[in-house]
Amino acid sequence: MPPAIRVENLEKDYGDVRALKGLDLEVPEGSFFGLLGPNGAGKTTFINVLVGLVRKTGGTAEVFGHDVEDEYREARDAIGLAPQEFNVDRFFPIHEVLEHKAGYHGVSADEAERRAQDALETVGLADKADTRFDWLSGGMKRRFMLARAMVTDPDILILDEPTAGVDVELRHDLWELITDLNDAGTTILLTTHYIEEAERLCDEVAIIDQGRKITVATPAELMDRGTDTLTLTLAQAATETPTIEDDRVDQVSVEGDSLVLRTASGSEGAPAAIRQLEAQGHRVVDLDVARTSLEEVFVDLTRTGDIDAAAEDARKGLDATRASETESSTTDESGQASEVSQ
Ligand code: ATP
Repeated sequence: MPPAIRVENLEKDYGDVRALKGLDLEVPEGSFFGLLGPNGAGKTTFINVLVGLVRKTGGTAEVFGHDVEDEYREARDAIGLAPQEFNVDRFFPIHEVLEHKAGYHGVSADEAERRAQDALETVGLADKADTRFDWLSGGMKRRFMLARAMVTDPDILILDEPTAGVDVELRHDLWELITDLNDAGTTILLTTHYIEEAERLCDEVAIIDQGRKITVATPAELMDRGTDTLTLTLAQAATETPTIEDDRVDQVSVEGDSLVLRTASGSEGAPAAIRQLEAQGHRVVDLDVARTSLEEVFVDLTRTGDIDAAAEDARKGLDATRASETESSTTDESGQASEVSQ
């Protein structure tokens, strides 16, 4: 089976803005895959190439083995998209919007009606079936976007910031809903600015920045790459900074009656550090371990101007980054939509 998504050396130029600069990425079938990146990293452009809203400048892009341009219909029919923007026909009752959407993807009228009803029930909007989109609350609109993405029974759901601006309760409801869909076999590609969301939901996360892949890893692997902080409280404050001989300890500093150790491996280095301190005459009375967060790793990897260093780290640690700077002379339609319906 081909992966759900495979892009190789994907490039997109909007005039002289290079939004994607040779992106390589594979999303395995059945996975819950997160796409993280700061504003302008190229996430939406990547999605728009996959769904045929933006024509790529170079490289290849396939959905379940179907080229997104040469086999547009097969590729597009496999995708359910919940975009960031509410691009919904506002004048029809929402059940009709869903029926039109299913019909557009070749579903018969009876089946479309049944699916529309199911989708509205799944997202808790069955009692709003005859309401116009405009008259839904903000949270209901977000839920409706998910219903519309689901109504074609897609093999992959692409969710572009599905929980942006929703309250905590609805966010948790949406997480549960999406997780259930993934458990039932649907591949999920999620872009988000909420690191907690990626940490909780995703099997794997790709971090992209300035149109290139920085790394792909599980959230746990990413967190392992960060620097943790061990705070050791001493019975008596140290008068000078003790020496700790351990490869895992990067830095030692004295802060009041505590020693602060920056380490690469959380609490693993603590017993050895305590033994050495006691051998030097210190008595440790308390120990606190602060693990790095995915957010800190993310910020570190995407810090402006640090892309090359981050990519180098990624190459050493986890996944090779092909930050190829292939020059392309092609200009294009600057993102003109080639399909109206999403
Ligand atoms: P965000 O997190 O803010 O949604 P993003 O990662 O989705 O950002 P994109 O929207 O893909 O990023 O934008 C990538 C780059 O391409 C940005 O520099 C953006 O200004 C530019 N861009 C996007 N769409 C167009 C367009 N239609 N015409 C010209 N430039 C564009």
